Amino acid sequence: MSAVIETRDLTKTYGAVRALDGLSLSIPRGGVYGVLGPNGAGKSTLFRTLLGLIRPTSGAAMVMGGHVGDVAATRRMGSMIETPRFPPYMTARQVLTWLSIAHGQKADAARVSRWLERVGLADAADRKVRGFSVGMMQRLGVAIALITEPELIILDEPTSGMDPPGIQEMRALIRSLADTDGLTVVLASHQLLEVQRVCDRVAILNKGRLVREGAVSELTSTGERLRLNVSPLATAMGVLGEKGTLEGDAVVAAIKRPEAPALIRALVEKGVEITEARWIGADLESVFMTETGVVQTPEAVI
Ligand code: ADP
Repeated sequence: MSAVIETRDLTKTYGAVRALDGLSLSIPRGGVYGVLGPNGAGKSTLFRTLLGLIRPTSGAAMVMGGHVGDVAATRRMGSMIETPRFPPYMTARQVLTWLSIAHGQKADAARVSRWLERVGLADAADRKVRGFSVGMMQRLGVAIALITEPELIILDEPTSGMDPPGIQEMRALIRSLADTDGLTVVLASHQLLEVQRVCDRVAILNKGRLVREGAVSELTSTGERLRLNVSPLATAMGVLGEKGTLEGDAVVAAIKRPEAPALIRALVEKGVEITEARWIGADLESVFMTETGVVQTPEAVI
């Protein structure tokens, strides 16, 4: 598993604030990687450091096998750090053509059309960006990140300010960049459900430190429980004893997978009817809360 990003003891201080505090992180090639953390955790500082926009106080960061700032390595990555702003009188096609020339490329109408198509803006290509929604602006920002045909793209809060349909489109785009184009996508977000849906692996940062890292499936598989729709509830609760809790019109059993067949047999033997049984995982939100002590605000969990 080769790493596209590697940091060692990365530290950035602003006066007394340690925005990054000895952060050692290795991000593997391929897939979608999420950097999670409450506000002020150091996500933007990490990204800005990786892009060579700010210098770390100490420690090292490697990107695409080169040191940060290395020209060859930088050309192999693209980024969208803030919701981009463009001259409002330009069309999406003009913005992309202009920026690709600024990146030293020859004007290539077919390539620009391909990028616009790729991010789902083909129909809006010749509209002025003045009328674009936040989601369309962000997608244009992703097209710009793709201009240098990078192998890695870094997106800071790519769904911030978007409505649910916009979020869904961005999620599909991010997934397809990884799955179809083979890019490594690294994104920062505080929208946990979104991260759970789109990312393969995550790092949870808090106060500039790495508090948890791993595959989303791994992090959410601990604390798995069996949710059962049963009747009568009282009999089922009697069978479950201390392992059962009532949640609405269902009972939730705190058991491990190998215990399930015996439990289901015991319920059936007591005359309990089971209409549904399914495993529910711990969601990323509870992992995040445990690690950071921060409860997400409702708007952050869509
Ligand atoms: P996040 O992106 O996770 O919200 P940031 O990287 O923006 O976190 O910030 C991490 C910490 O560093 C915060 O406490 C923030 O106030 C501080 N910080 C970031 N940039 C600056 C700066 N230019 N000057 C002073 N403090 C900063």
